[in-house]
Amino acid sequence: MEIKKGIAVSPGIAIAKPLVIDSEDYRIPRRSILPSAKVAEVKKVRDAFKSAAAELEEVGSDDKLAQGNIKDIFAVHQRFLKDKNLRKKITDLVYNDLLTAEYAVSTTLRDIANHFAAVPDKYISERATDIYDIEKRLLRHLLGKKREDAASISHEVVVVAHELSPTQTAGFDKKFIKGFATDAGGRTSHTAIVARSLGIPAVVGLEDVTRNIDPTATVIIDGNRGVVVIDPDEATLKQYQQFAVQFDRLEKELDALRDLDAITRDGVAVQLLGNIEFPNEAEMIIDKGGHGIGLYRTEFLYLYSQTEPTEEDHYNAYTEVLHVFGDMPVVIRTMDLGADKFTQSKRFAKETNPQLGLRSIRFCLQNLAMFKTQLRAILRASVHGDVRVMFPLISSLHELRQAKMILRDVMEDLDEDGLKYNPNMPVGIMIETPSAALTASILATESDFFSIGTNDLIQYTLAVDRGNERVSTLYSGADPAIIGLLRSVIHDANKARISASVCGEMASEPEYVMLLLGLGYRTFSIAPPMIPEIKKIIRSVTIESCNDLARKVLMMNSEREVINYLRNAAIKVLPEVF
Ligand code: PEP
Ligand code: MG
Repeated sequence: MEIKKGIAVSPGIAIAKPLVIDSEDYRIPRRSILPSAKVAEVKKVRDAFKSAAAELEEVGSDDKLAQGNIKDIFAVHQRFLKDKNLRKKITDLVYNDLLTAEYAVSTTLRDIANHFAAVPDKYISERATDIYDIEKRLLRHLLGKKREDAASISHEVVVVAHELSPTQTAGFDKKFIKGFATDAGGRTSHTAIVARSLGIPAVVGLEDVTRNIDPTATVIIDGNRGVVVIDPDEATLKQYQQFAVQFDRLEKELDALRDLDAITRDGVAVQLLGNIEFPNEAEMIIDKGGHGIGLYRTEFLYLYSQTEPTEEDHYNAYTEVLHVFGDMPVVIRTMDLGADKFTQSKRFAKETNPQLGLRSIRFCLQNLAMFKTQLRAILRASVHGDVRVMFPLISSLHELRQAKMILRDVMEDLDEDGLKYNPNMPVGIMIETPSAALTASILATESDFFSIGTNDLIQYTLAVDRGNERVSTLYSGADPAIIGLLRSVIHDANKARISASVCGEMASEPEYVMLLLGLGYRTFSIAPPMIPEIKKIIRSVTIESCNDLARKVLMMNSEREVINYLRNAAIKVLPEVF
């Protein structure tokens, strides 16, 4: 039995055999196969060599793609792929040493590459790059199949991977993929956010869970405590089966709150909205007792499609959602592409520092045709409900003005085309950079509402990558810097008489609810499965006690002191959740 501690990102308990998904960019861990699988595994190696050679043949014969030097390089690659000794070395590792096809390919080719790299002759040492290229090509053939396996799996598994993209996670079928565990990732990485929305138990940031995992072992994923148990003994397995039963019972109890108001014991009403990535999640908000959408992450329309969505694709997605909500508010955030969210076509140029690069509203303002297509669809949909548009990652008034100017241009185009829209559609912004938080009083003069994206606000204020497990202990909403910004933004919003909600993950975390209420926030937008739990906390406290708690926290000067205090206060209010 092996117990590993990571970051709990999506609650619940999953117990199943693992499906291990490796990444071609990452060192493939040494893993064994069963003797009964060796013939099929050797065939996988042969097929990968065959497909890679055929692929090279095709590219090599295309005169546009392969000219001069490139043709020579492909010829060298072909020779390697046809080398019988190389292939035998790999298949021996699989057949005799019972290692996975991908490990055998990767370890053999990396050994050869290292030999080349160590030769003083520059011409020969540079050939190491070719060997890595061949390794990648072969792995793509081997691992591509595994990714498809995850999408088309038909028995219950837990997925174990070095890293998963938000798009991969969104494609998981909840019926069969019961949970997942990854080496990489942080609490607010988008993969974690998607897991929470889907209600799949998940633990990330485990650093080396993929290493040595035995595909025949049972794996427990405890998304409440951030623990993964590999090959549990009988007592541990029993204990976790009990935890799973308790968790299900608590969920059912909380679901019974569905039709009750989110109101504090002393009568202050709170608006609970949901965050969604896909139109089909909208129903879950209603099922869990939410009253609208506070954040629709529309970039998933791009992430999940092979081609750029058309105006009709946008329009259909928005009207599908509006249909569910009647006259409840639906906040559509314009696409937030870049950083860890890329389109399928990978239209983005590689950036050294993508979190600080051409992402989000910056990308839209440089890709006007794409931006206008989306705005047209949002405006056209605005006649079907209470649609509000929201711009992400605004970092200056100039940027907000540019975005609003484009919106006005699109309104004029619609006028010319005789198409209807709501000319008074509220236009809000996300506060997720320190510059926006610090200039909130200025931005408020030209915004109809604010929504605080604490996921990015924490990342940029504390200079901690939200998706990097190596610095995850530094990433915290309890830092006095964050609390100071949250206080000043709500103060500025109230002064300007505009609303300010919180739509980052802080609003979904039970320990922060009392603090946010005490700071003055009255609208939370959260992952739909978390709505009942947050409602339960709201219904268990008084605003007076929250104000008192916030006053105390504002006097504290260390993150440790704040988080311990908040946890203790939340445990007192709702012991069963912790
Ligand atoms: C945020 O940054 O807090 C937010 C809600 O946006 P996203 O998580 O999509 O970046
Ligand atoms: Mg954000």
